[in-house]
Amino acid sequence: MQSFIPTKRTLMGPGPSDVHDRILEAMARPTLGHLDPEFQRMMEELKGGLRALFKTENAMTFPVSAPGSAGMEMCFVNLIEPGDKVVVVKNGVFGERMRENVVRAGGEAVMVEFDWGTAPDVSKVAEVLAANSDTKILAFVHAETSTGVRADAAALCALAREHDCLTIVDAVTSLGGLPVEVDAWGIDAIYSGSQKCLSCTPGLSPVSFSERALARVRARKVPVQSWFLDLSLVMAYWDGTGGRSYHHTAPVNPLYGLHESLVMLFEEGLEESHARHAVMHEGLVAGLEDMGLDFLVHPDIRLPMLNAVKVPDGIDEAAVRAHLLQEYDLEIGAGLGPLAGKVWRIGLMGTSAREENVELCLTALADALG
Ligand code: PLP
Repeated sequence: MQSFIPTKRTLMGPGPSDVHDRILEAMARPTLGHLDPEFQRMMEELKGGLRALFKTENAMTFPVSAPGSAGMEMCFVNLIEPGDKVVVVKNGVFGERMRENVVRAGGEAVMVEFDWGTAPDVSKVAEVLAANSDTKILAFVHAETSTGVRADAAALCALAREHDCLTIVDAVTSLGGLPVEVDAWGIDAIYSGSQKCLSCTPGLSPVSFSERALARVRARKVPVQSWFLDLSLVMAYWDGTGGRSYHHTAPVNPLYGLHESLVMLFEEGLEESHARHAVMHEGLVAGLEDMGLDFLVHPDIRLPMLNAVKVPDGIDEAAVRAHLLQEYDLEIGAGLGPLAGKVWRIGLMGTSAREENVELCLTALADALG
């Protein structure tokens, strides 16, 4: 075997996004023991940074040592007991993954489905909740990466409160690029990913749980089926108050990376980061529309960080992506499910949401489309 030296690409797909050199440098620093007092100080700062990012006072806020899907699973397996009814909003791939989680955790999933490329209709979700008064949880995706649609998270959470349900919210793609207000919106369990608007490497999933959610976990009659994702066990490591003990060997260097990505985010300012994502999105939209390209999603509900662009008739979308990769070292994403072959997904996430990337993408696409 020989050392693996990857090509430096520009990552403008659905994630991972470009990782800033500062974050890669942070990850190359000396590995400490995962119970080293110096490392524990860093963990406390990281938890504080994630609370500021999620806009929450939740003590139970920390990064799961695994990708976004594990954060998702942690929310579902801890909050669902066998037989619990969960209303799941689905308008793309990740709503379906939520349904799978509910079923595998022994819950009953009641689906509210919307066309891919459209936003969840809050009044339709309200009807389903009214017709299912024994619902324990409402679960939805804030930023649906498969389509580029934003859900009205504040309205859906308010609805859940009216119906006395907990909420599980997927903020994998939104966090850092769009406002996410855990306390103000009343979110009970939320998970994100390190590899999108936080510009860190993939493999960590920031999560946060409200007191209401924790009360539900404490009142469980059946133990959480997953040992690794059982909140009560993980917290022996992440909760510093009672002294830390070994749960699993934390991914020490990737956590340095996430810490650095938060340092960078707060240097820039959270609102400034949201504004930058919006401005870069507008630049990309203007350039693509000048080229005669259309968007899948209505402007009112479009995500700034994930742009679903319709493939023009007669164009081989895979050949265009291959051209971008070969000639420009530029990655954009393909459509998934019913959108396969029909859209490209262009990401403007974290460090990738910058002027040079927008220009590169426009130049490369203009070249590929002739
Ligand atoms: N949820 C959404 C909205 C996502 O976009 C993704 C990943 O793309 C996930 C969940 C799963 O995250 P991961 O791939 O890090 O497991």
